[in-house]
Amino acid sequence: MSAHYDFVIIGNSAAGLQALRTLRRHDRHSTIAIIDREDCPAYSRVLTPYYIGGHIAREELNIVDQSFYDSLGITTLFGQTVVAFDPEKHSLQLVDGRDIGFGKLLLATGAEARTLTVSAQRSCVLRHLADADKLVGLLKEAQSITAIGAGLVSLPLLSHAHKEIEKHLIVGSDRIFSRVVDADAAEILEELLTSQGLNIYKQDDIKTIKEEAQLQLTLNSGKQLASDLLIVGKGVTPNTHLAVEAGLDVEYGVSIDRFCCSNHPDVFAAGDAAEGADFVTGELTIQGNWMTAVEQGENAALNMLGMQCHYPGSLKNNITEIFGIEVAAVGYCHDDVSKTAISWNAMTGRFRKVFLDEKQRVVGTTMIGETNDSGLYYHLVSTHSIFPGKGLLSGNANYAQTQFRLET
Ligand SMILES: Cc1cc2nc3c(=O)[nH]c(=O)nc-3n(C[C@H](O)[C@H](O)[C@H](O)COP(=O)(O)OP(=O)(O)OC[C@H]3O[C@@H](n4cnc5c(N)ncnc54)[C@H](O)[C@@H]3O)c2cc1C
Repeated sequence: MSAHYDFVIIGNSAAGLQALRTLRRHDRHSTIAIIDREDCPAYSRVLTPYYIGGHIAREELNIVDQSFYDSLGITTLFGQTVVAFDPEKHSLQLVDGRDIGFGKLLLATGAEARTLTVSAQRSCVLRHLADADKLVGLLKEAQSITAIGAGLVSLPLLSHAHKEIEKHLIVGSDRIFSRVVDADAAEILEELLTSQGLNIYKQDDIKTIKEEAQLQLTLNSGKQLASDLLIVGKGVTPNTHLAVEAGLDVEYGVSIDRFCCSNHPDVFAAGDAAEGADFVTGELTIQGNWMTAVEQGENAALNMLGMQCHYPGSLKNNITEIFGIEVAAVGYCHDDVSKTAISWNAMTGRFRKVFLDEKQRVVGTTMIGETNDSGLYYHLVSTHSIFPGKGLLSGNANYAQTQFRLET
């Protein structure tokens, strides 16, 4: 007879783990199983660049250990891939042929890193622990690294690799970090990173790769680069094929409503696989950040328990450190807003840009150099607060040398 659980979660990461915690917090007796094709307890993907750069040990990536699941009475099916599910029959199939029945199902299947059409032995993406382990090996011998794509994978990886290593960055767009920060912030960051020895090639791409003693890269511009390692950070694609084959509504990600529910009442989705409303614009989006996955995982679990909890929408919330510089982007950070307020102090390297809507409400911010108060901005955006004025921008850093600009 096949096993049956009241709740089954596919994906043991940010969204799945938070869902599991929430289910157990409110319900001590239901049967719960969590399935993941990775054969280990949950770990932090966000910290993998620090592990690869040798700044933290592999064990420090772990968020929980097996005893966490055991103590909550959760069945773990790690190292198992789900190959299909049937929402009507309330059953799913594992790759080893087993059938698992469920009452309610959460798809917390995340995303996969995009690869290049040209590839090489010494090139690697970074999404899973196995990628991180491969990169640790490749970096050992490397004296020069090239990364393609300037986002949350390439830039942290380049910045955490040893200082002596020669570093190159190829970007398709006309600016770095274009999916994270606005154009002003990108310009300042580019200057700061270039001054630290990063070679940046914008509006370019890799045309061919030759595997010789070093990788010989030819770019579209004709530029030749020799490198020991190629890091591919070209963004991610949501894992939606199970949902597509099950007949659920899928646009780019699995479409979810304000209750993190798919178009089937017993199937929910959360995190990088799920496309739900953005808090500011209301448009369907995948934020691709850890906090959204946690929030949606929690919301989905509450609704799986029948609590009817409304999720107000997801907010961009990226806080990172690259080349020793703190960077944060919260909420809506595009220049098509009604007004922006900017403060920039070249002496301290402290930059703030606040994005306002037509009612003078804060909808987003980008920050460079100091991000301690990014939580305050998250609060201002999520409470639709009116911009309190330039005093907020200045913080405590050298007020006299700070330039302010209010642009409409
Ligand atoms: C290097 C790196 C740096 C990052 N830095 C930041 C950062 O600074 N800040 C930030 O907010 N975010 C960052 N992110 C993004 C963040 O990690 C993701 O937004 C977050 O992990 C999404 O969580 P999730 O639970 O939705 O999915 P994932 O973390 O992708 O987990 C999905 C899980 O589902 C499993 N799975 C998928 N399909 C199946 C299947 N068919 N059967 C069984 N198991 C399956 C996968 O094995 C995986 O473990 C970073 C990501 C990376 C890779």
